[in-house]
Amino acid sequence: MCDPGAAPATPSDPASTISPELLIARAERLCAARGERFTALRRRVLRLIAEADRPLGAYDLLALLGAERERVAPPTVYRALDFLAAQGLVHRVHSKNAFVVCRAAGAPHSAALLICSACGRVREVPCTALERHVIEHAGAYDFAVESVAVEVRGRCAACRRA
Ligand SMILES: [Zn+2]
Ligand SMILES: [Zn+2]
Repeated sequence: MCDPGAAPATPSDPASTISPELLIARAERLCAARGERFTALRRRVLRLIAEADRPLGAYDLLALLGAERERVAPPTVYRALDFLAAQGLVHRVHSKNAFVVCRAAGAPHSAALLICSACGRVREVPCTALERHVIEHAGAYDFAVESVAVEVRGRCAACRRA
């Protein structure tokens, strides 16, 4: 589930400065290679999430989309979000019911999300070892894991310095 080759996105890491244009171009290539349709709406939704520096929920997206052109129905946005998550282009922040862009997009993978409770920024870090540990631990209780979501709340370096 985790992509061991995925580079963590950090503030000092070039991966975190990938422009929305590059993220869109990469998503386009990935979808083409997988035979998936990267529709205009999926592209708009991905761009809005990529441009935001906070997680965006479906209703944030509906408001942003509604401000720039004709109204979009909520189920349409939910489907676009499900698609982007299934393709590994965004990660769902379960505790916020919102989404962040994946800057290490490639194969769909799970990630540990470090959520700053002061500024709300979310940083994605690799979780291969953590995830393996959770799967083993659940296995010891005869539980077969389907997916692991790791969300960690705390304070980012910038907020601790402030
Ligand atoms: Zn990711
Ligand atoms: Zn912060």
